[in-house]
Amino acid sequence: MSPLKIGLIPADGIGKEVIPAAQKLLESLPNGPKFEFVQLDAGFEYFKKTGTALPQATIDTLKSECQGALFGAVSSPSHKVAGYSSPIVALRKHLDLYANVRPVVSVPSPAFPNQRELDMLIIRENTECLYIKSERQEIDTATGLKVAYADRKISEYASKRVGTMAFNMALSRQKLREQKPMNQRFWKNNPRVTIVHKSNVMSITDGLWRETVRAVKENNSEQYGSVDMEEQLVDSMVYRMFREPETFDVVVAPNLYGDIISDGAAALVGSLGVVPSANVGDTFVMGEPVHGSAPDIAGKGIANPIAAIRSAALLLEHLGHPEHASKLYDAVNAVLADGQTLTPDLGGISTTDQVVDAILKKL
Ligand code: NAD
Ligand code: MN
Repeated sequence: MSPLKIGLIPADGIGKEVIPAAQKLLESLPNGPKFEFVQLDAGFEYFKKTGTALPQATIDTLKSECQGALFGAVSSPSHKVAGYSSPIVALRKHLDLYANVRPVVSVPSPAFPNQRELDMLIIRENTECLYIKSERQEIDTATGLKVAYADRKISEYASKRVGTMAFNMALSRQKLREQKPMNQRFWKNNPRVTIVHKSNVMSITDGLWRETVRAVKENNSEQYGSVDMEEQLVDSMVYRMFREPETFDVVVAPNLYGDIISDGAAALVGSLGVVPSANVGDTFVMGEPVHGSAPDIAGKGIANPIAAIRSAALLLEHLGHPEHASKLYDAVNAVLADGQTLTPDLGGISTTDQVVDAILKKL
């Protein structure tokens, strides 16, 4: 079999520390797939050197040669810098990565003893909603003061494809639970998709979202008949997530709601340093830890590599190697569970390299 070609884009800050860690684990998988890694440029540091944050060569190589990629993190300046725009947003667009998939799973660990038990998968629409950035500001003629507007786009096309992914992932999670008792520890019901919206207020935009995602099941009853479907208004979604996070399986949401609820969910499982994501399209997938470039700890060798390693596992899962992904998750979970080798964000004293070595031993 020809090797899997993976683009590595460490970009800025601790991206340069956690992406090599993830690469090392991918290369060390027992009987794992063969990989060919290509190092690619992007990021704010690259912008400062060259005037571009995302060189065309990176896009071209990803599109024409790679099956997937791993992205580290970018340091986006909080003030406006002429000519700069975020390479990660651009990559999602260029590669048509229409879903951002974020598993949020608790692992029993002495590092966070009072953790809630949950195993949810949040799927966030990744291409539209308020993130089309169609904003304008003008002077309100009535008051003489400034007024700003934003357009929000919800399309049947985008809602249907991300909704279909949600139902498919509910089925594949169920299959994994049947194969592995360890994965059944929290979820014992039928697979379930929770559709998040606010169509009681925004009946046209969120109404279209709700109807379109519902229709995915309603029009494919033989395929998705075993998947329960429920709806949750986004405000009470937040309430329920903090009160009873164990009652969710797959959650699917428009871009902005998905962004907000998934960051909130990450707070339920310990540290930003452990939460992975994958940007998924029909022909390409890019793993990406949820955290940023962490300038406060960059260069110290103490960044938690687990979010990046789990993102590499997600990448494998979506590239058709769920068994290897599963080995990687198990090794990470074993290290968290024995709590001996943890980076400072989890209350430990270990370095990035020591955590990588501990995970390697569990493999
Ligand atoms: P951040 O995620 O970089 O850091 C927040 C806090 O969490 C910091 O204290 C940091 O030390 C800690 N942290 C994050 N990841 C960690 C890890 N793997 N191990 C241990 N500790 C970790 O968020 P921020 O400080 O708000 O942003 C810093 C920069 O990152 C900004 O320039 C921001 O624009 C950028 N950012 C990028 C992305 C991305 O690339 N997708 C996402 C968020 C923020
Ligand atoms: Mn966010």
